[in-house]
Amino acid sequence: LEVSGAPIIGTNDEWKGILVVFHDITELKHLEQMRKDFVANVSHELKTPITSIKGFSETLLDGALNDPEAAKMFLDIIWKESGRMETLVADLLDLSKIEQKGLVLNIKPVLLNKLLNEVIVTLETRLESKQIDLSVQLKEELIIPGDEYRLKQVFLNLITNAILYTPQGGNIKIEGCDAGETVNVTVSDNGIGIEKAELPRIFERFYRVDKARSRESGGTGLGLAIVKHIMEAHHGKISVESEVNKGTAFTVSFQKKLSNNFTKY
Ligand code: ADP
Repeated sequence: LEVSGAPIIGTNDEWKGILVVFHDITELKHLEQMRKDFVANVSHELKTPITSIKGFSETLLDGALNDPEAAKMFLDIIWKESGRMETLVADLLDLSKIEQKGLVLNIKPVLLNKLLNEVIVTLETRLESKQIDLSVQLKEELIIPGDEYRLKQVFLNLITNAILYTPQGGNIKIEGCDAGETVNVTVSDNGIGIEKAELPRIFERFYRVDKARSRESGGTGLGLAIVKHIMEAHHGKISVESEVNKGTAFTVSFQKKLSNNFTKY
């Protein structure tokens, strides 16, 4: 609480009272703390790959180049880590653009069946390398008003997470149906699951249940924060149910009709 005061003086210089202003700065403090945390998180996330790229290139320069097998291994790491930085920076720029200017959507009728197939095709190698079985069960043609590029991002993030957090040989299911006013799609896996206590926090930027595991698999901790923004921009909803060692199910629900004055989030 910030307090400031000033005397109230009448026309003949007599004291009439004192004006005291109480200013609640809780919200300001909170925003300032969030900004600090954000800068600390970004710095930390960038520091890890930079340290590793610097260290391995130094080792290469110091002579490891003469050992082709070791050299290849170090270059692989350098390549992977720079890829991580690239994803992180791209996600950060996207998120900051969304948070500053809001999302400008290019709304058109989107056929979800087709969109999902297009997303899944790009994930085939990952699915194969983990021998994960992905089945799509859509009851009918699902059409919603939406931004195709952003909707692809939603499903790409949810399915990529399902692959990341499901062990070798697991199953992923995508189910969808027309529920009258909304179209609902669920992406479920039988992977590692999420503790109840962690569930409310997973949509926060940089929040990761297991930092090491997420980083190892190329995660940035920004994916679900971006998904949530996109769903809000579409006036849709996202919910999650999960049980540790059983699996996780994310459900996204879209309005079939958007109001006429809907242009910008
Ligand atoms: P990340 O890049 O780390 O995957 P996200 O924002 O996409 O970041 O997800 C946040 C966290 O939520 C992840 O680090 C992970 O701990 C948890 N999570 C997301 N999806 C799943 C899932 N399908 N199964 C288990 N945990 C998940």
